[in-house]
Amino acid sequence: MSASFRAGGPAGGETRPAPGPLSPSRPAPSPSLRVGAPPRSRASLAILSLLFVASLALPPGSAVGPAGLAAQVDDTDPQAPRLAAASYPVWLFARWLNHGRGAFAVELMTRPETGCPHEFNPQPRDLERLTQTRTVVKNGLGLEIFLDRAIRVAPVDVVVIDASAGVPTMINSYGRLSIPGEPSPAAGLEPNPHVFLSPRLASLMAANIARGMSSRDPEGAMHYQARLELFQADMQALESELASFKRIHRGFKVVTSHGFMDYLAQDLGLTILADLEPAPEVAPSPARLAKLATLVRDERVSAVLLDPHADMKLAETLGRETGVPVAVVDPATSGPADPPLDYYQTVLREDLLLLAKLFPVNAT
Ligand SMILES: [Zn+2]
Repeated sequence: MSASFRAGGPAGGETRPAPGPLSPSRPAPSPSLRVGAPPRSRASLAILSLLFVASLALPPGSAVGPAGLAAQVDDTDPQAPRLAAASYPVWLFARWLNHGRGAFAVELMTRPETGCPHEFNPQPRDLERLTQTRTVVKNGLGLEIFLDRAIRVAPVDVVVIDASAGVPTMINSYGRLSIPGEPSPAAGLEPNPHVFLSPRLASLMAANIARGMSSRDPEGAMHYQARLELFQADMQALESELASFKRIHRGFKVVTSHGFMDYLAQDLGLTILADLEPAPEVAPSPARLAKLATLVRDERVSAVLLDPHADMKLAETLGRETGVPVAVVDPATSGPADPPLDYYQTVLREDLLLLAKLFPVNAT
């Protein structure tokens, strides 16, 4: 089997058409969910929530969890207009940009511990908050599937900032190892949404978010530009650190839990041969595990790298059978409810330290 990277490598990264980052209006609400601008009565909110939950076919009696919209940055005025982030990384980026101005109350729509929100189901309380949010920032590329439906309860003039608009993407990785009988999603041909885990691309995402925030708060445009430049300087420093890693530790092959670190691996010069999960949050079959074990041995895979929400037991079994180390790489998709502003930068540096320990100097 070839050790080559998947289609869409560094030079051939598939670039999506570059729509603007701003989506001034959401898809037309379904008749049953069409509503006017807030404020709404609690009764109508309750109906909206029930309709939404029913549409997701949640089990009856699903508990309303703790507040989904998490902590705000300390310099944010809680009375400021809300800006809801649909996933943790773009929440971190928006907090960074907002810092020092506080024109928005930047909130997280998922839970800090959610991780990749591939399967996130918003609870009624989350939806109620969304009815009062006129600015939403999303990672995009299908990472926040829940948002397609949830956005219907937002005010009609809600603006959605698509942080990945125009960001060069790779195709999804689930086709790397195909097992008959397992879900083999057509997602194999769609863009991989985990663009946030590359400082090079995080720079572009933050620029999209800064533009979107400026359009909502034009008087703050210079502030967002200044904060963006600081962030991009940090990203450039990280890019240099990744480039040095690539020079020193190149030639390693790995298996990952799902496509969470494809872009990071590309920056680091690691080759991902397969994913443990046939699709995000789908458990592998025994046949897949057996094939993975063969692949790891035959291809001399150096490590199994998991996201924090992956099935550690399965991975450890694979590691034991093949004698390969298993490690958890933090994709910054979860973390504290009130993280430091530079949490993303810290997480990437910790990942880099971990990987440098895992891989000796050049394998080839
Ligand atoms: Zn993911």
